[in-house]
Amino acid sequence: MRLCRFAEDRIGVVRGDQVFDVSAALTALSYHYPLPRFDPLIAHLDKLRADIEGHADQTAGRPSAEVGLASPVANPGKIIAAPVNYRKHLEEARADATIHHQKQIDEIQRVGLFLKATSSVVGPSQGVAIRHPDRRTDHEIELAVVIGRPADRVSARSALDYVAGYCIGLDITVRGPEERSLRKSIDSYTVLGPWVVTSDELPDPSNLDLTLTVNGEIRQKANTHDLIIGIADLIAFASSFYTLMPGDVLLTGTPEGVAPIQAGDLMTATIAGIGSMDIGVRAIDAPRS
Ligand code: MN
Repeated sequence: MRLCRFAEDRIGVVRGDQVFDVSAALTALSYHYPLPRFDPLIAHLDKLRADIEGHADQTAGRPSAEVGLASPVANPGKIIAAPVNYRKHLEEARADATIHHQKQIDEIQRVGLFLKATSSVVGPSQGVAIRHPDRRTDHEIELAVVIGRPADRVSARSALDYVAGYCIGLDITVRGPEERSLRKSIDSYTVLGPWVVTSDELPDPSNLDLTLTVNGEIRQKANTHDLIIGIADLIAFASSFYTLMPGDVLLTGTPEGVAPIQAGDLMTATIAGIGSMDIGVRAIDAPRS
C-alpha cells in the first residue's frame, strides 16, 4: 500500500497516478492530552489497513499531482539521521573543507547518529524555504525508513520486522561549523514524500537506485547497496540507544554529489520502488511580527 497525506488533514491511498481519500478511517483514532510521542496513524496501520483499503475501493480518485502532497508521516516523534553513510560521500566531504568542517567527518561508526527537529518536516508541495541565503545550503537525498512498532535494542536480523515502510527524504543542510542538529533542523529542511510504501511492497530496501536532479541536471545518483552501515544495522544501532517508536523516521545517509541549492531551483528526487517528487526552493518569507 502507498499511503499519503494531502491538503493539511487528509490521508490517501495512492494507486497508479491517482489518490483516493481514505480520511474516514481516521475516525477510529482518538487521543487526548497529553498526546503520545509517536504517530497514531502509523502505530495503528496494521489494524486500520483493511478499513483504509476499503475506503479506497469506494471513492473516486484524483490525480496525485494535483492534491498537494504533505509529509506522509504527520507526527514523527523523532527524526534520526545517519551522517556520511556512503563511502564516496565520505571521500568528497574529506576533500572539500566547505563540507567537512574539521572533525565532523569521521566514519559513521565513530560519530554515530544525530537528531533533526521534527518541526523541520514538510512535504513536497510545501517546498524548501532558504533561511540563510548568504550561506551554502545543500541538497541530500536519502532513503527514509518509517518505524512501525516499538523497537528497543533489536538485532539487525530482526530489525526490518519493525519497519512500517519507506519514503524519500531530503536532509537539507546549511554547511558550517555548528552542530548538525542545528544546521539541519531549519524549518522545511526535512522533506518527506511523496508517500510511504509499506514494507510488504518493498521487502528488500538494500538495492534501490536513488537520483536527485536540480533544474533537470543530475546531481546525485547512487544505490542503497553502497551504504556503509546498511538499513537493518542502522535500526539495530539506533535502537541500542533509544526506543524507536511508530512514526519515527530514520534518514539513512546521502550519497556523493551534494551541492548547493538556491531560491528558484526545482529539485526532483526519485527512489526506485517508491516514486518521484518535485520540490521547489524559494526564499523565506519575512518574519511574522
Ligand atoms: Mn544527511
